[in-house]
Amino acid sequence: MPSFIDLADVPVVDNHCHAIDAQQPTGLANWRALFTESPDPGMRAREAADTAFYRRLTRSLEAFYGVSGEEGVLRAREGRSTEELVGELFRDASIGGVVIDTGYPAPDKAMGEKEFRAASGSDYVALLRLEVAFQKLVVKHDSFEDLVEGVRELVADVRGAGFAGFKSIAAYRTGLAIERWSDDDARASYAQARAEALSSGTVRLGHKPLLDTLLHLAFDAAASQGLPVQFHVGYGDPDVDLRKASPLELRSLLEDPAYRSMPIVLLHGCWPYFREGAYLASVYGNAYLDVSYAIPFLSIAEMTSMTRAALGVAPFTKLMYSSDGSRVPELNWIAAKDGRRVIGSVLGELVADGDLDADEARRAGERILRDNALQLYGFDAGRA
Ligand SMILES: [Zn+2]
Repeated sequence: MPSFIDLADVPVVDNHCHAIDAQQPTGLANWRALFTESPDPGMRAREAADTAFYRRLTRSLEAFYGVSGEEGVLRAREGRSTEELVGELFRDASIGGVVIDTGYPAPDKAMGEKEFRAASGSDYVALLRLEVAFQKLVVKHDSFEDLVEGVRELVADVRGAGFAGFKSIAAYRTGLAIERWSDDDARASYAQARAEALSSGTVRLGHKPLLDTLLHLAFDAAASQGLPVQFHVGYGDPDVDLRKASPLELRSLLEDPAYRSMPIVLLHGCWPYFREGAYLASVYGNAYLDVSYAIPFLSIAEMTSMTRAALGVAPFTKLMYSSDGSRVPELNWIAAKDGRRVIGSVLGELVADGDLDADEARRAGERILRDNALQLYGFDAGRA
């Protein structure tokens, strides 16, 4: 009889998620489209509903709302305000804290921090999404020197500015192999980005020498302020070139002695590169692996594989629970329920195999679900 470690009473700290839409999406097509990373209109309207994840989500919500079918679920949620949805789902899933990536969805579409805190009852810290901030500064500054100065100001006192760390989506722009460039290369790259900003009023920072150079300025600040940097790794919409989004591409950062005091958080379990991610968390003192239970949209069995790989090699002090939920609170909700269950069953296997005793397993579960994130993101500092 395999044992199971019951973690139902442990409130989770969701170490990577996004804001909730103030105006919740309505209608079946918009609802289904939330549960796929595919930009293909047919996939978003139809096949998104034909996955193990979506069927499990629907079944779980039918039980929660006491309704039947997708339409029943939609009617139940559309009959509630955003505040009511957040309140009911966050309380039911016992979500004690969140680490919010403020870069997506756009703040003007999102529930405000005050409203969210009041509705959810969760502790809250925010991360600054670097690329979005850099893009605004490229539009604002008409010389490379001014831009560098602007970035230095932006990152000079991160906690003072209200953030607990940074999030980077370099994987979505120019890849995770972040390099050091000569001054000439960085300036030439700035000139190209600036020309784009002048002609279109905005810029998408796909200019590698410039982006890498600005990222290093932010990493220097993170290292000296002892603040974590989350990296999007692996799974995402096809805008990400998955070949350049493997965590192994981060080697030069992980090896850099200047960044030893900068915790590097590898997001989404690095799926499908979860063994690579678990390995990195097992050998680099500053590498942490985020294990995420709503996005990627996976079956219970595949989340179990990811969790086995993580717990199979990495220290329990280096793993952190998340949902990667965004826009709708159902993602935070199902991740907390399924995450506790999957982590509890994998810890049970470790006990059955004689790897851990039951007390050690329970403690490991508490660390992954809650304590590691409370410590790493300085929730106490945010509370002061
Ligand atoms: Zn995310």
